[in-house]
Amino acid sequence: MRKISLPLFFLLSFIIVSDVKAKENTAPLIPFPEKVEWLEGKFLLSNETGINVKSNELYRYFISKVNELTGLNFTLKYKPDLNNEVIIKIDSSLGGSNKEFYLLTVSEHIIEIASSFEEGLFRGMQTFFQLIPASVKTVKNGSTVDIPCCKITDKPAFKWRGLNLDCTRHFMTKEFIKQYVDILAYYKFNILHLHLTDDQGWRIEIKKYPKLSQVGSLRKETDGSLYGGYYTQYEIKEIIDYAKSRFITVVPEIEMPGHCLASLAAYPENSCTGGPFEVTNKWGVFNDVYCAGRDSTFYFLENILDEVMELFPGKYIHIGGDEVPKDRWKACPRCLARIKAEGLKNEEELQSYFVKRISEYLNSKGKDVIGWDEILQGGLAPGAVVESWQGMQGAIEAAKLKHYSICSPFAYTYLSNDIESLDLHLTYLYEPVPPGLPADEKKYILGGEASLWTEETLQNEVDGKLFPRLLALSEVFWTNSKNKDYEEFHSRVRKVYNDLTAVGIQYGQESKAISFSSSYNALRKEFMVNITLGQEEFIIHYTINGSEPDSTSAIYNAPVKIIKPSELKISAYMNGHFTGKKIDLLFDFHKAVNAKLTLTERYDDQYRACGDETLIDGIRGSNDFHDGLWQGFYGVDFEGIIDLGKEKNISEVIPRFLSDSNSWIFLPASVEISLSDDGKNYSDAKVIENDIPEKNPEILFKDYKASYDNRSARYIKVFAKSIKQCPAWHPAVGEKAWLFIDEIEVN
Ligand SMILES: [Zn+2]
Repeated sequence: MRKISLPLFFLLSFIIVSDVKAKENTAPLIPFPEKVEWLEGKFLLSNETGINVKSNELYRYFISKVNELTGLNFTLKYKPDLNNEVIIKIDSSLGGSNKEFYLLTVSEHIIEIASSFEEGLFRGMQTFFQLIPASVKTVKNGSTVDIPCCKITDKPAFKWRGLNLDCTRHFMTKEFIKQYVDILAYYKFNILHLHLTDDQGWRIEIKKYPKLSQVGSLRKETDGSLYGGYYTQYEIKEIIDYAKSRFITVVPEIEMPGHCLASLAAYPENSCTGGPFEVTNKWGVFNDVYCAGRDSTFYFLENILDEVMELFPGKYIHIGGDEVPKDRWKACPRCLARIKAEGLKNEEELQSYFVKRISEYLNSKGKDVIGWDEILQGGLAPGAVVESWQGMQGAIEAAKLKHYSICSPFAYTYLSNDIESLDLHLTYLYEPVPPGLPADEKKYILGGEASLWTEETLQNEVDGKLFPRLLALSEVFWTNSKNKDYEEFHSRVRKVYNDLTAVGIQYGQESKAISFSSSYNALRKEFMVNITLGQEEFIIHYTINGSEPDSTSAIYNAPVKIIKPSELKISAYMNGHFTGKKIDLLFDFHKAVNAKLTLTERYDDQYRACGDETLIDGIRGSNDFHDGLWQGFYGVDFEGIIDLGKEKNISEVIPRFLSDSNSWIFLPASVEISLSDDGKNYSDAKVIENDIPEKNPEILFKDYKASYDNRSARYIKVFAKSIKQCPAWHPAVGEKAWLFIDEIEVN
């Protein structure tokens, strides 16, 4: 009985060593699968490996993709090789009706990918490709490849995992789109949403209306040059077929009734005024939209949609529906006559009539519409899917009405947002299911989409905008939320950069240029400030005496200690030049620093500043609400309770709020401050009213100061009454208003 006679420590050390070995024998998989077990050992993939795939199409795809990634060229073998073989097989006992479920096992002799459906096999192949080390993908010299042994079971959290590419503001070539189809497939996306028409360009050939591409695809830039491009129907077909072979559905978006200047420039008779119009070179929202009073407009759009439906085999056609100004309709006799004849209440209902009429047409051809969340206004057409972009409210309303939705809130999924307002971490925090949605309504959340709007982005800048944040959304849409962990994800992203470089993706930043964290030591009465950089090449120069740092100022190389009220100014330099990136931190040693703060309503993740303790961290914000020091509350009042830990003498409580009405940020109408000894009974309430006119375009702060005559208290309650909605005079009337607060100073 030799085995049981082994000393215990020997057994233990054996187990530990094997665990470490298995841990080293891993690959950075994104999106992370449902279940992964890393095992010891490797499979040696070489030109001699047998490839056993029943489906011809998948076989061709598999060997060409492996060749592309590694340089290996498999030779066709007629006999199975049970010692070194890749088997890709349909096994109808797996995964139930989930077409994307797959099983991937790698042992030293056999690699097996199995699923009930070809789609699952395809997803499993992508995981297999990610097991190939980045070093191999870099040299591609066709030598033997080590694949780590493992056992993976996987299926997606959401069935709609998309990328919306805006090819109107800036055009992208067919070849480029096809490259992105491969990239999307690699990260297990299954929807490519093409934004094909807008004010700045019409990008799809319509045979019945040739002027759409002849006139509508070209715009005159401010320097007089012509900019444009469009896809012929033949090219569209090529993109669709290519995507289909990668199990990606292409969803076309044909915008209506707004965002249609390019179409009206070609056929002005579909407008209210009759034109003439130009394809615009400006960004924004324009008043000229399709006339809802003319039947001929509807026939025109139906004819276009006939050709679109002929090309795109998917179930859904996206008809936009967002940002439709009603000015022209209000002044158009035909539109007003339509409102009367159809018994509609107003122009909002006319928009709903428009969308419903087009939806019914598409329904009659067996298709369903998708529209941005404005299509909820005035009621949804049967079968309509809402793409919720302004927030999650559209998805919540749609689910209540038993309609499906796609969750693409701009704050988390618009990768056109710059990294300062949407970094990798915030992107990863996104959850497509709105919190609090009843269980029986969750099934109406199909999934989500990343969007790249290209006003500021040329084709050669797309990689830098999408990556690495698209990796976060790949995981948000695929990975079960209970398996999500940012730190762990981030460690995989660091490794995946080698993969991205190997396939030529020029990824951009993952975090703000300068980030900081600070901690306060109450015993020593000092702050320690830690600075991290978005780019390794940056050098930080800083000052703590209020002067602007220059290239001769102190260089940051260890946490900065702050021992008295001071202004820490931090500037990022590169190659001796100021990059324009800087942060100013004003340190204040007040009585609430390091206290405990409880918030009644949570701040918005997009403006979370430094998180829960931001408002009592002793650091003041600048007049830029993006500076990472201001915390934002969206459409709600603010209430915070500070627990000082013990009773202290209080002479002043000063919460500071920001006003920046152009950014929908308004001062609270009033702030009420009250004190308590036990945290239950509050007294000494002082109400401070806002005395600054709401309609103030300037950026300014207001201190809502409450003075006390050295009253002793442990708890301080601050309640700020938000105006909640942008007021009547504001361009965003009725939209939610922001409250921004950076500190509650207690003296
Ligand atoms: Zn009209």
